[in-house]
Amino acid sequence: MNLSKLKFGSTIGIIGGGQLGKMMAQSAQQMGYKVIVLDPNSSCPCQYVANEFINAAYDDQIALDRLGALSDVITYEFENISANQLQALASKYNIPQGYQAIQLLQDRLTEKQTLQDSGSNIAPFLQLTDYDDLVKAVDSIGYPFIVKTRFGGYDGKGQVLVKDATHLDEARQLIQAQECVAEQYLNLSKEVSLTVTIGTNNQITYFPLQENEHQNQILFKTIVPARVQDNKEQEARNEVNKIIKAIHFIGTFTVELFIDQQNQLYVNEIAPRPHNSGHYSIEACEYSQFDTHIKAITGQQLPQQVTLLKPAIMMNLLGRDLDLLEDQFAEHPEWHVHIYGKNERKFNRKMGHLTVLTNDINETEQKLLKQFEGR
Ligand code: ADP
Ligand code: MG
Repeated sequence: MNLSKLKFGSTIGIIGGGQLGKMMAQSAQQMGYKVIVLDPNSSCPCQYVANEFINAAYDDQIALDRLGALSDVITYEFENISANQLQALASKYNIPQGYQAIQLLQDRLTEKQTLQDSGSNIAPFLQLTDYDDLVKAVDSIGYPFIVKTRFGGYDGKGQVLVKDATHLDEARQLIQAQECVAEQYLNLSKEVSLTVTIGTNNQITYFPLQENEHQNQILFKTIVPARVQDNKEQEARNEVNKIIKAIHFIGTFTVELFIDQQNQLYVNEIAPRPHNSGHYSIEACEYSQFDTHIKAITGQQLPQQVTLLKPAIMMNLLGRDLDLLEDQFAEHPEWHVHIYGKNERKFNRKMGHLTVLTNDINETEQKLLKQFEGR
């Protein structure tokens, strides 16, 4: 496998043409690489950005081979591709990210087992295959707990919060549809995430700790630096370091963490790709999470560290936020607005985001929250 430096003018193949693929492509093109994207949706955000576009299903072997043949290196922007297919591709083509991370992390059960084996601090969990397991969860974990499908969940989809016995039936229906895991529902004081990039020479570059707020389990805003006690950033790095030892990976990934009311840090989940909570880095850091990802997969030296140039707030723009705010964009030069170019606007769909750099996070946050009121 040739992991040597990829010369500019080389071609990067990206599986997935959503907003993450688009922002990866833009970083890659800035560095002089060509980009070829495979996506089943012919009007995905990458359609007009990619130098070449393959409109095919993610499991279309002929199309994947075409992508492989045309690319000097392949990357992916989301975790729900078939691990088997990725493994087969990795034996033929240059995929520095590898397939192991996808294999372990696209299944919440193996993800949790891997985290547990790595010594990471995670909430107590139990595998659920049938209703009896649900009863066991009531005994061993206790209310409240949260039931999550093993595969395919995102933005809170495929989850049932079991506060008490009245929610068991809903959880049972979810288990009937798909195998699940139950995990203790924590009393959170904060959610944070840490984005890191791993280079081909084992180099690790950390981004600053990010503070995240979700609404309806969808990321609403990210504030950097996270407003937490100083030691939390180092604690989060320690957790990430355990994970890096357990999973082979090259490129950018993000670890989502919880801080509970007792100030205890827990690892929630890992995204083996650039992450929504790292978008602020495009304007607020000297390198974005997409820049370092491209540097890593093309075998370049990573920056020793990524410096936050100015504190930042990133707000997601869902369909309903665009309805409310798009007339405001022209009035706010301080808003760095990113619109992904999805053809269909939906109430809860991520259509874009905006980032504001500020020396007064609290004041800017209050101003922005006023703008988002009534959403
Ligand atoms: P997704 O893949 O949808 O991001 P997560 O497991 O990250 O799934 O859950 C989405 C959100 O739901 C989290 O960011 C958090 O706000 C809430 N959540 C999930 N699990 C727990 C838990 N064990 N305790 C408290 N809140 C949780
Ligand atoms: Mg999550």
